[in-house]
Amino acid sequence: MNLELDQKRQQKSKKSMVYLGLFASLSSVALLTCLFLHFGGNLESEPSIPSENQPSPHSLLEGVSNEELGQEDLAQLGVNELGEIMIIMYHDVQDYEAEWVRSRENFKKDLERFYHLGYSLIPLKSYLTGNIQVPAGKTPLVLTFDDGTYGQFNMISDESTGEMVVNPECAVGILLQFGEEHPEFGHAATFFINSGNPFGDASRIFENLTFLLENGMEIGNHTRTHINLSYASTEDMFKEIGWLANEVRDLCDYEVTALALPFGGYPQSQEGLLAGTWDGKEYTNLGVLLVGAEPAPSPFSKKFKPLAIPRIRGSQDELDKWLREFENYPNRKFVSDGNVETVTIPEGKAEGLDHDRVGVREIKTYNISEKPLS
Ligand SMILES: [Zn+2]
Repeated sequence: MNLELDQKRQQKSKKSMVYLGLFASLSSVALLTCLFLHFGGNLESEPSIPSENQPSPHSLLEGVSNEELGQEDLAQLGVNELGEIMIIMYHDVQDYEAEWVRSRENFKKDLERFYHLGYSLIPLKSYLTGNIQVPAGKTPLVLTFDDGTYGQFNMISDESTGEMVVNPECAVGILLQFGEEHPEFGHAATFFINSGNPFGDASRIFENLTFLLENGMEIGNHTRTHINLSYASTEDMFKEIGWLANEVRDLCDYEVTALALPFGGYPQSQEGLLAGTWDGKEYTNLGVLLVGAEPAPSPFSKKFKPLAIPRIRGSQDELDKWLREFENYPNRKFVSDGNVETVTIPEGKAEGLDHDRVGVREIKTYNISEKPLS
């Protein structure tokens, strides 16, 4: 910023002024060098300047992990824990774009876009249970991947050590890399798999699932054979859902807690969707995820229906549509107060709360007119 001023001064061509300008410029360079060294040369991993299409909502308050935000702070951040949350549904990630395939480049751009728009990733289970841990002012976002494809996740042998490492070109590799560079964004994701050879490799099923779980990701139930449940008998329903739950439990000592309906096919009977028994073992789903097609209600809202949780397709047109919707109507979206123990909403909205789902959390309200003029 001083550089431009300096250049103007230089144009006045007084010799002493030229030297002054030069000194200021050199000082700027020195300052930048110091900053660069101070940040350990990691400036590249700092958030880049948002483009015109990616306005940044970041305010000074955003990101504070504060339990004592005042009325004005809450109003300024637009905190609204009755707002909606987008659950994105991806399928394959490859080097090309198609109806059910997101290209790697576009997937990377999606992550950048989410980040710059003020979203933070949460595990699906956090959404389903309402234990949403994101900084104040952030909007939680859930990423889900159906079908367990190779493009979503695979591991390769490291050239120097021979150890198996995540392929940086698969969705998990891209996500882990982005999350490492942007820790406040995180890298949570849920992978809805079928039985047999999830991620295209039956020989590494244990290693692959374990890797995901150890890296903060979740496994979800997409039925044993990717069956269309709208045509399934009741017994097949229990078998298809229970089999996959038992398989993952036996392999990884892990309970899947959500079901994504293959083809979006909704069964004629809801029996066995949220809970059931197969082969003598019980399973529980906290939520049943649909294929389409809008943001999901707040987990504290009366509109939350565990048997029908909508998702948004991770395609260009759907993402454009809904990200713009939230930017144009920010009151629609969930904005966190940064505290999992409280549910904070604007005054006058309390009747939308489902008190069973709020549970022991403390309800806080604030006056929206406290928002300072800007
Ligand atoms: Zn599927």
